[in-house]
Amino acid sequence: MHQLTLAEIARGLADKKFSSEELTKVLLARIAQLDPQLNSFISLTEDLALQQAKAADVRRANGESGALLGAPIAHKDLFCTLGIRTSCGSKMLDNFKAPYDATVVAKLAAAGAVTLGKTNMDEFAMGSANESSYYGAVKNPWNLEHVPGGSSGGSAAAVAARLLPAATGTDTGGSIRQPAALTNLTGLKPTYGRVSRWGMIAYASSLDQGGPLARTAEDCAIMLQGMAGFDPQDSTSIDEPVPDYSASLNGSLKGLRIGVPKEYFSEGLDPRIAELIHNSVKELEKLGAVIKEISLPNMQHAIPAYYVIAPAEASSNLSRFDGVRFGYRCENPKDLTDLYKRSRGEGFGTEVQRRIMVGAYALSAGYYDAYYLKAQKIRRLIKNDFMAAFTEVDIILGPTTPNPAWKIGTKNDDPVAAYLEDVYTITANLAGLPGLSMPAGFVDGLPVGVQLLAPYFQEGRLLNVAHQYQLNTDWHTRTPTGF
Ligand code: GLN
Repeated sequence: MHQLTLAEIARGLADKKFSSEELTKVLLARIAQLDPQLNSFISLTEDLALQQAKAADVRRANGESGALLGAPIAHKDLFCTLGIRTSCGSKMLDNFKAPYDATVVAKLAAAGAVTLGKTNMDEFAMGSANESSYYGAVKNPWNLEHVPGGSSGGSAAAVAARLLPAATGTDTGGSIRQPAALTNLTGLKPTYGRVSRWGMIAYASSLDQGGPLARTAEDCAIMLQGMAGFDPQDSTSIDEPVPDYSASLNGSLKGLRIGVPKEYFSEGLDPRIAELIHNSVKELEKLGAVIKEISLPNMQHAIPAYYVIAPAEASSNLSRFDGVRFGYRCENPKDLTDLYKRSRGEGFGTEVQRRIMVGAYALSAGYYDAYYLKAQKIRRLIKNDFMAAFTEVDIILGPTTPNPAWKIGTKNDDPVAAYLEDVYTITANLAGLPGLSMPAGFVDGLPVGVQLLAPYFQEGRLLNVAHQYQLNTDWHTRTPTGF
C-alpha cells in the first residue's frame, strides 16, 4: 500500500479497496520501522492522524469525495500546527507549540488530508543539505551516506522512501526543487503569492513560498490544489483565481516553445548531468515541443545577490527570537543584555548565526548602498532577463542542481561550496516565478532532476509538461533499494 501515489490512493479510497484508517496505520508502522535510518521526521502525530483518518472515512461514507480526503501527508516543521511542536529545525523553537494552524495546514486539513507528522529540515530553512538541523542530519534513501538536499530534506527523504505519498515544503532559494532533484521526486515551487505564507515561519519573506513534494506531477497538482489560494491574512498573497490543476495535465505539448539558457551549461555543471538534461530535451522534442537556445545574461550575479538579500531578510525576521517572547531562554541570565546574547547564542546554530551576521552587516548604515541596494538592483535585472526570455518561449528548461547529492559532512567547512549548489534554483525566487523539478535519470546511482520554469501563475503549464514527460519516461517510478 505504501507504493501508492496520491492519485491511486484517492481511487482506492473511492472504490472502498481500503479505508484511510487502514492506510494511515500501515504508513505509521512503516515510519516507525524505517525512519530511524533516515531521520526524516522531527515529530510524529499518530493520534491526530488516526483521528483525521477516521473523520475522513466518515466523510466518504457520507458521500463526500475529493482527491485529498483521507490522504496521508506530512508538513515541513516550519508550518505552524495547533498544539503541536513547530521547531523550524532549531533548538530555539524546540519547546514551541504553535497556538494556531498555518493557512496551508488548515486548508489541507479541511480538504481531508491526514497529518502523519512534522518533517526534519535545515535550521530555519537555511541550507541545501539538511545537515544544519538541531535534530540531526537527514539521510538520502538512495544512499544513506549522502545528503537528501535541503532545506525540505525531511519531506523529500520521507516521500522518496515511500513512508508517505506527499509532503509540504518551502522554497526560498530552491528548498523544494533541490531536495526533489536529489531524491528522485517531483517538487513544485509556486509563483510568489500563490500559496499563503501565514503561519509559515519566515526565513526571507520576499522569497519564501510553500509548495508540494510528491513522486509525480499528477500528485503535485492534487497537493497544490489544496494549498493555493488568496489569504486575506497574508498581505503578499495574491487574489488570483485558482485553476483546476489536474485538468491542466493533459494538454498536448505540440508547438510548446522550450527555452534552454546557454548560461546553464557552463563550467561547474557535472557533464553527466548535462547529458541527462539533453536527453530530457530530446524526449520533450519527441512530444512536439520546439527547442530554442536563449540567454539569461545576469545569471552569474544571482548567487551573490541572493546571499545578501536572504540573510538581510533573515536577520530582520529572526530578531523576534530573543528569549523573551517565545522560544529558548538561557539559564540564569545576569541582566537583559546577557539574556538576549546567551539565548540567541545558545538557541541558534552556526549557519543561522553566520547568516544573521552577514544580513545585519549588509543592512547597516555604511554598507546598505554597497550591498543590499546593489543586490536589489541585480534582482530586478534577473527578473528583466526572464521577462525578455518569456516573450520568446513558454517554458525554460535546465538542470536543477549542478551535482548529484554529495556525501554527508563533505561541504560543512566550506559554506560557499554549498551556496554554489543553488545556482540554478535561486533565480526563480529572486524573480518570484514558479518552478518545478522532476526526475531525469541517475548518476552513480544518485538521482538527477531537470528544472522547468514558467511565467507567473503558469503552474498548470509546468505540471502539464512534467506529466506528459512522466507518461513517456519511468525515472520517477524508480524506488530506492531497501525502501
Ligand atoms: N539553499 C538555500 C539557502 O540556504 C535555499 C534554502 C531555501 O530555499 N529555504 O538559503
